[in-house]
Amino acid sequence: SAATKRESRRNPERASRRQTRSMGLKEDDSNPLEAEVELIKFLMFQVRAPQRRNTPRPNQSRPHVVRRVEDVTEEELQLVADNMTDKVYNSGSTCHQCRQKTVDTKTCCRSEDCRGIQGHFCGPCLRNRYGEDVRTVLLDPEWKCPPCRGICNCSFCRQRDGRCPTGILFPLAKYHGFSDVHSYLNRDFSRTIQQLQ
Ligand SMILES: [Zn+2]
Ligand SMILES: [Zn+2]
Ligand SMILES: [Zn+2]
Repeated sequence: SAATKRESRRNPERASRRQTRSMGLKEDDSNPLEAEVELIKFLMFQVRAPQRRNTPRPNQSRPHVVRRVEDVTEEELQLVADNMTDKVYNSGSTCHQCRQKTVDTKTCCRSEDCRGIQGHFCGPCLRNRYGEDVRTVLLDPEWKCPPCRGICNCSFCRQRDGRCPTGILFPLAKYHGFSDVHSYLNRDFSRTIQQLQ
């Protein structure tokens, strides 16, 4: 409701505290700033040994076909989804981030080393998680997908690296005025940490 929204705006620590609680972390009512730093540390740094995978998953071993910018059609650009509600499910291609199979146009990674569906991201995921636009990157011959750049924050890549998933972070990133999760995770924490000392 509008009243709740106003209320949470007046209490900037409230949203992050709610997130902390939902993750089962200890919350510190006396110092919300410290609680947030703890949450961030928990999310950013390794929490357990990375999972080993001896055999590559079949869809990862499938060779990757680099589509050239010249081959991207006007129709494909129009079929990029702007919202999750635009999506038509159960046919088409699978997004690496949300793992949903939908007909809308996904990104195409221009790295020769990319594998399978790794480089396919849907419009809402690429915007909300990395602050990038599918139409723009489809026309960029140099664009590399987040996994190829080593910055993928999808739950599968994070778990493989021994980190917990960041799915809950989008509302928190928005709340703190960041457009996407990647910028939120990569913001400069030094000032926050200085304030605590
Ligand atoms: Zn997606
Ligand atoms: Zn890639
Ligand atoms: Zn990933």
